[in-house]
Amino acid sequence: MTASLATVIPQPAPVLLPIDGEAESFPVRRVYCVGRNYADHAIEMGHDPSREPPFFFQKNPDNLLVGDDFPYPPLSSDVHHEVELVIALRSGGADIPAERALDCVYGYGVGIDFTRRDLQGEAKKLGRPWEIAKAFEHSAPISALMPATRVGHPDKGGIWLMRNGETAQRGDLQQMIWKVPEIIAELSKLFTLAPGDIIMTGTPAGVGPVARGDRITCAVDGVATLVLKVV
Ligand code: MN
Repeated sequence: MTASLATVIPQPAPVLLPIDGEAESFPVRRVYCVGRNYADHAIEMGHDPSREPPFFFQKNPDNLLVGDDFPYPPLSSDVHHEVELVIALRSGGADIPAERALDCVYGYGVGIDFTRRDLQGEAKKLGRPWEIAKAFEHSAPISALMPATRVGHPDKGGIWLMRNGETAQRGDLQQMIWKVPEIIAELSKLFTLAPGDIIMTGTPAGVGPVARGDRITCAVDGVATLVLKVV
């Protein structure tokens, strides 16, 4: 039986990201995130920064925030910023070799993996999943994407976040434990990747709480900048 094009409820809105300087937008399919991918952040969270296999979690596509205002979420009093390089895929597959992984990349951006740290702490203690800490409304503000055809595949350069004019996070893409091609290769062993998938690649040290009224600016130098207000 073929499904009808008519739907019994309104169709969910597509999730679209703007592209720097271009009229077309980037449609999002899935959002993957890498945990603990910078040694100094692993240490600040109380973990061994050795090169264990990367681990992943997900946010929902409609958790992405395109806009200037990040609404402080409910049921937390400890929401942390995590600035991250974002990968946007133009193609995918399963078991992608690292040597061919960069062919799958459409472009890059900068995003924030906002985290309800108090809820994540409880989840870790109880061995529960992380969704309530990670996949809440507007939890992933994201910049316009920069096509790889214009910016290449950045593997070094500053990644930073300022809160109210003061530097909170400052790292370099060279500090990533798992590099972009390796992340794509590892993820594609677990999931079949596809055009429209987004990967948030982990955060350097300096994560910390935000409060309503905060002004946040973050960037991956030479790739993208994102400016936000916490409301
Ligand atoms: Mn993160």
